[in-house]
Amino acid sequence: MPTAHKLHALVLQATDHGESDRVVALLTAERGKLAAFAHGARASRRRFGGALEPFNLLAAELRERPGGGLWTLESAAVARGFGAIRGDLARIACAAYACDLARSLVREQEAHPDLYALLLALLERLDAAPAEPAALRAFELGALRATGLLPRLDACARCGGALPGAPARLAFSPEDGGFLCAGCAPGAPRAPRCGPDAAVALRRLAEGGLAAAGPLPGPVAAEARDLLTRFLEHHLGRRLPSRRFLDEVGPMLG
Ligand SMILES: [Zn+2]
Repeated sequence: MPTAHKLHALVLQATDHGESDRVVALLTAERGKLAAFAHGARASRRRFGGALEPFNLLAAELRERPGGGLWTLESAAVARGFGAIRGDLARIACAAYACDLARSLVREQEAHPDLYALLLALLERLDAAPAEPAALRAFELGALRATGLLPRLDACARCGGALPGAPARLAFSPEDGGFLCAGCAPGAPRAPRCGPDAAVALRRLAEGGLAAAGPLPGPVAAEARDLLTRFLEHHLGRRLPSRRFLDEVGPMLG
């Protein structure tokens, strides 16, 4: 029988399977994203209790199945439940979106310790205080960095040349992977434009992460949100359902 691994794992998603089982998507520091089969998790709450809920941090025991693919979840105890998130719809929407984004950006069994640490830090922050737009933007940028997709913000994404300073509005091209210089921008007429304040905010959040996520003026927050949405949806090829939920629940947050 394959060895059991004791891992800390964040629950990204839990799906019912048949009459009695559940399949959970987990994010671990060591093994990245895993899909694990929880036998009897629907039929009997005895074995897993309420542990298999999204955003829980589990102390889990997992067994790799021969042939790869699904793992078997042998046991799971809640190491952190983030109870304050669960009492607030806006925080639930943010946490669900963050988990969904993390799940969508990575392949299974590819270690992304930075992404794991970032998601855990965001959940801790949401558990401690109400949701803020800048924290979500910092999470999006950090998740893009952790998965090698961070947009180029300091120089032209196409030619590497210098970017015009304020008050220029910069072309931000998802196809090219970031800002474009004055010479390259005419080649991307459909790329959205980014004002100087939003460009500064994006750079600061990309560099400083969650620690740099202070309040943003409304128009700057909205611009940063729209640009990152375009960028993420270009890479994902779709809008995440959790993002639609976030837009409904917290239009200022989305
Ligand atoms: Zn250029």
